[in-house]
Amino acid sequence: MASVANKPGVATPRVTLPGTRFHRVRKTVQTVCVVIFILLPLFNVVRFDLPRQRFYFFGAELWISEFSIIFLSLMFLMVTIAAVAMIYGRIYCGYLCPQTIFSEAATSLETAIDRMVNRKLSNLTPGVRRVVGIALFSMVLLPASVFVTFVFVSFFVEPADLFHRLLTLDIRTAGGIVGASVTLLTLLDFAFLRQRFCTAICPYGYLQGMLADSHTLLVHYQDESGKCIKCEKCVRACPMGIDIRRSSHQLECTHCAECIDACSAVLGRLGRESMIQYAWGDAGKGVTVERAWYRRLGLRDGKRVAILLLLLFYATGLSIAINMRQPVLVRIMPNRITLYSKGADGLIHNHFRLVASNRGSADATVTLLLADLPAVRLLGTDAGLTLKPGETLQREFDVAGSETAVNPGVNHLRILAHVDDGQKDETFAETFIAPMETVEPVANQK
Ligand code: SF4
Ligand code: SF4
Repeated sequence: MASVANKPGVATPRVTLPGTRFHRVRKTVQTVCVVIFILLPLFNVVRFDLPRQRFYFFGAELWISEFSIIFLSLMFLMVTIAAVAMIYGRIYCGYLCPQTIFSEAATSLETAIDRMVNRKLSNLTPGVRRVVGIALFSMVLLPASVFVTFVFVSFFVEPADLFHRLLTLDIRTAGGIVGASVTLLTLLDFAFLRQRFCTAICPYGYLQGMLADSHTLLVHYQDESGKCIKCEKCVRACPMGIDIRRSSHQLECTHCAECIDACSAVLGRLGRESMIQYAWGDAGKGVTVERAWYRRLGLRDGKRVAILLLLLFYATGLSIAINMRQPVLVRIMPNRITLYSKGADGLIHNHFRLVASNRGSADATVTLLLADLPAVRLLGTDAGLTLKPGETLQREFDVAGSETAVNPGVNHLRILAHVDDGQKDETFAETFIAPMETVEPVANQK
């Protein structure tokens, strides 16, 4: 199994400082994030349900036919990520990213198991202890990988459906094969890759480099008067195995602040402050120096205020658009294979098709009404059409009228679709086609 991602070739043992300031904050935030990560798909806050072709966004169930809102929602998420990256740098990487959280958890677990094995089985050879440690670690890592994969795939498949597949050990269907493959990848990731994923695979670090400017939050080392005692503790504390003293802009740096804690712990004993700190940009102005609350929050220039306003504007527009959407989608199409027909009832019939989709969370009944052409009536939709949540139904119906009561040729009418849940009626402008000449009664048409 991989050890901590220390710099290749550097044999310094890693240190952890669990009681220190940023470490404690980070672990608290990460715990909250894990809970949110698990709850998001369960409560339909965010899920791109691929089998059902739905996008769940803050409780709203968007259908694939509502692509414009889905697109705007995804764009909103992207703009938010870009804005956070510009203002707060790689704070997402260090505090919020599941890859970081589970990689660090895997490292801590492995270290704890190794320590326990070395303590309790000290009579065995180091090689045997190592094998026992790997076996114990794998026994925990496998179910943990299944659980993490379950949560991750829940962002794309309904959790109840996924749970059923898991219980039946489904590795025959496409979904089951994907789930098993992702579990294997997760296992390999947390066994061998961990933080190397951040520099080898994840594009966010590269993206951050493009979004940062002179006011972006970063972890900064400053030693103008040569006071660094060169204890190297910041290097040994770094989960990414880098030396922050070289540059604040190293691709590997996730702004986790473990090096700040390390330096504080060492220099604190000498009555001095850490030489590493969070700062707004390379100018190195520490975050605690600012007095105005908005500058402390990172709103340090007009660009940031403009971006915040843009996000607020975007979020408001998006929530209005989501709330204005009709839960029941109704479409009415004339069937013009025959312009009209004459029925056994002696009336002229025009054929139509009603297609209704219930995108809401309760049953809904669609009833049709006619307007503007009193001489015709509806046939075939008397009871209305009742739809369960998520259901799409279609029904053929006729508009029929006496030939003598309508104009020959084209007559205009409106079909109103009324939904019983208070949704606004939808109106369809249609035409009723009657013969240009008198049609012979059915019995005389030979
Ligand atoms: S250099 Fe410091 S902030 Fe950057 S990853 Fe290492 S410990 Fe975290
Ligand atoms: S922990 Fe602080 S004092 Fe020690 S080497 Fe790093 S920057 Fe210098």
